[in-house]
Amino acid sequence: MSIQFIKEVKYARLLSPLKDYQVDEQAVEHRFDPLLNRETVITPGRFQYVKRLFESNEKDIVDVVEGTRVNCPFCPERIQASTPKFPKEIVKEGRIVVGETVLFPSLFAHMDYNAVGVLCKEHYLKLNEIHEKLYDGIRAGLIWIKSLHKYDSNIKYACFIENYFPPSGSTVVHPHIQVLASELPFNMLKELLSKSEAYFKSNGTNYWIDLIDVERKGERFVSESDDVVWLTPFAPMYTYEVLAVSKSLSNFQELDDNTIREFVNGVKCVLNFFQEEGLSSFNMVFYSGPLGEDSKNYFRIGMKIIGRAGYRFPFVSDIWGLQTLMMEGEAYETPEAMAKKLKQHF
Ligand SMILES: [Zn+2]
Repeated sequence: MSIQFIKEVKYARLLSPLKDYQVDEQAVEHRFDPLLNRETVITPGRFQYVKRLFESNEKDIVDVVEGTRVNCPFCPERIQASTPKFPKEIVKEGRIVVGETVLFPSLFAHMDYNAVGVLCKEHYLKLNEIHEKLYDGIRAGLIWIKSLHKYDSNIKYACFIENYFPPSGSTVVHPHIQVLASELPFNMLKELLSKSEAYFKSNGTNYWIDLIDVERKGERFVSESDDVVWLTPFAPMYTYEVLAVSKSLSNFQELDDNTIREFVNGVKCVLNFFQEEGLSSFNMVFYSGPLGEDSKNYFRIGMKIIGRAGYRFPFVSDIWGLQTLMMEGEAYETPEAMAKKLKQHF
């Protein structure tokens, strides 16, 4: 096994007015993702200063929820007339309905193939109410992905994305998921696949299985069920970042209802934790190895969830130029401390 957790601790030194201009020494931990070698800085000294920016203001939430309800295209009274339909050769009925989820193409596509799944009739759900609806959302998305791949086997790359509440980048408050697919891999997936394959070629083992084995005994391990392991990543890109990995599946085409249920049960615990921390917004991605290919040797299905900035004046984003332009991750809390708190919700 050759997973290495490399970090280098540096210090910022200043004469702080908060300490009567005595020397203040703040640890800045540079960590390197063990697979991608991507760098991130852990700056827990900032967490108390910025924690309030992750918390929402209840009145601001009510204002945006009520203000967007009247013209919401996804509310039951408008969804039939305001949402598009799939071409007949891909979905004969035009839309896919599973439980409360209604899945249709995005009116303004982000990707060559882009479905939107409206998860429920309610215009707004609290974080701890979303998981039940997500289960049917993923099942509906899978029906579409499988049908797409049957229609054109070159469409190999697919993922689910959930953006929840405006700070996450979502333009509609009503709970929904995006399902994206293309012949071309998404940047991050391309990197994960190529580095995972390179790891397999040089070590003869699967990185994700090795990661589970080594993390299972450590401080970042959160929980596991029959097929899904939950942990916090060694070098998170963001403060509230959680990773789930399937122990046995590498491809969405192998996903069954039981495994979807296991992932969703974990989402429930993560969102309960976020809610207790005062968060109201998150991004989630659920990704797969290439459709129609056997990537079992080197890859595994994964899910990543990040908690986003709170919804409150003055609406400060938690992502700044360091991440967007310098491509450096930053987390204001160590993943070990995050795992400790998250564990209590599993
Ligand atoms: Zn609505």
